[in-house]
Amino acid sequence: MGEFRLRFAPSPTGYLHIGGLRTALYNHLFTKHNNGKFILRIEDTDQTRYVEGAIENLINALEWSGIEYDEGVFIEDGKIVEKGEYGPYIQSKRLDIYKKYVDKLIEQGDAYYCFCSKERLDSVREEQKIKGLVPKYDGFCRNVTLEEAKERIENGEEYVVRLKFPKNKDIKFHDLVRGDIVINTDDIDDQVLLKSDGYPTYHMAVVVDDHLMNITHIVRGEEWLPSTPKHIYLYEVLGWEKPTYVHLPTVLNKERKKLSKRQGDVAVGDFREKGYLPEGLVNYLALVGWSPEDNEEILSMEDMIEKFSFERVAKTGGIFDKDKLDWVNGHYIREEPIERITDLSIPYMKEANLIDDKFVKENREWLEILVDIVREGMHHMDEIVDRVQFMFTNEVEVETDAVDTLKDEGTLTILEAMREELSLIEKIDEEYAASLMKKIQKRTGIKGKKLFMPTRVALAGSLHGPEFAKIIYLLGKQNILERIDYVENNYLK
Ligand code: GLU
Repeated sequence: MGEFRLRFAPSPTGYLHIGGLRTALYNHLFTKHNNGKFILRIEDTDQTRYVEGAIENLINALEWSGIEYDEGVFIEDGKIVEKGEYGPYIQSKRLDIYKKYVDKLIEQGDAYYCFCSKERLDSVREEQKIKGLVPKYDGFCRNVTLEEAKERIENGEEYVVRLKFPKNKDIKFHDLVRGDIVINTDDIDDQVLLKSDGYPTYHMAVVVDDHLMNITHIVRGEEWLPSTPKHIYLYEVLGWEKPTYVHLPTVLNKERKKLSKRQGDVAVGDFREKGYLPEGLVNYLALVGWSPEDNEEILSMEDMIEKFSFERVAKTGGIFDKDKLDWVNGHYIREEPIERITDLSIPYMKEANLIDDKFVKENREWLEILVDIVREGMHHMDEIVDRVQFMFTNEVEVETDAVDTLKDEGTLTILEAMREELSLIEKIDEEYAASLMKKIQKRTGIKGKKLFMPTRVALAGSLHGPEFAKIIYLLGKQNILERIDYVENNYLK
C-alpha cells in the first residue's frame, strides 16, 4: 500500500460530540504513527439537519484539541477555505460528481429509479410489522423499465434512486477491530442512493468520496457498522478497491448507555468552557477504548502517536468516567507552566468580577503566586473562583466548621500580637511572611495547631487551604490588619 490516507467526516449538525472527538483523535494518531495524510471532509448531504456555524464549530474544536490535519476544510481569516488536491471537501459542492456515479449504476443495472410515495412505503412497513417482519423496501419499483422510468421522470414524477442488491448474497469484509463480518443481502434494504431533492444519501456520497480522495483506512464509530455492507457492495459494483475498515466502540456512560446531552456534557465546547485543558481531555479520551502496551495513563500527543495501534482498541464500548477525566486533567493543571495556568484562570476570575484587565496588568506576579498555591487538587479551571475568592475581600467569611476554632481562648491574643508585630514593619516580603508565625509564637507562647488554626481561620476563613506563608505574603500588611479588625468585630465580640 502506498501512503496512508485517513479522513474525519463529520456532519455539520451542531457541535462536536466527545465521541466524535475520539474518532478524530484515533484517526489522527494512526495517521501520524504511519506518516500518512489526514483529511477533514464535511458531510452535509442531509440539508434538513444542517446547523448554521457548525462547520466553524467543528474546526475550532479540532484546532483547540490539537488534532491537526493536512487537507480539507480550514478556517483562515475567519473564513472557511479548502486546501488539497482532492477538493471540494464539502459534499454539497460535489453534487455533479455523485450524480455521475448514480447514473453509471443505473446504466449498469445496479440501481433503479423508485417512484413509491411516502404513503405506500408507510403502508408496506405497517404490514410487515404486523407480520412480524423486519421493515424493508419491498422492491416494488425494481421492475419498472428504464424506458418507463425516464418517461415518468419527464412527466415530472418525483423519484429516488435505490441500490439493487442481488438476492441471497453474502457480503463479507474484515474490520481491524471487529474481525470478519458477513451479512446476507436478504437482510439489507435497497438503500436509497439519490434523494428526491437531488442530494445523494450519506451512503452514496461516502463511498464516492472515500474512493476519489484515495482514502486507505476508514475509522469511524461502530454505529456505522450496519451501513458498511452497503458500502462494500457499492465498491464492488463500481469496480473500486476497498479501503480497510475500523469501527470504534461507542463511548458510553457509567450505566453503559450512549452519552447523551440530557445527562450532562457531551460537546467538546462544554468541556472547554469548564476549563479542561485540551491535553487533559485528549489524553483521557484516548484511553476510552484504547490503552498503550505499557498501560501508561499520562500521555502527550507525541506519546500517543508513538504507541497507538488498533490491535489495542477494545471491541466493546469504552466507559467515559468523569472522575478519571478529572484526575488526568488535574495532572495537567499541576504540571503545566504556571504562566499558562494563570492565563487560563484569568477569564474565570474576571467573569466572577474578582479582577479586571487593569488588575491583571498591575498584579500579574501576584496572580501567578495565587494560582500556583491553589492549583493543587483542582480538576478543571472553573474551580479556581471558589478557591481564590477569599483573597479578594477582607470581610472574612468564616466557614461554619471553622467558627469554633476561631473562638479558641488564644485567638484574641494571637491577633493582637500580629497587630503589634506588623506595626514594626512597612511591608511584608516573602522572607518576612515565612517567619511571621514564628514571631507570633515567640510573642504569645502559643504554638502548633493552637497557633496556626485560629490564625488561618481568621485570615482565610477556613481550616484548610494553601500554604499559609504564601497567603500572608499575598495579603500584605494592610489587608491582614483589616481582616483582624473585621474578625474581631464580627466574630469575637
Ligand atoms: N458523516 C458521518 C458522521 O457524521 C461520517 C461517517 C463516516 O465516517 O463514514 O458521523
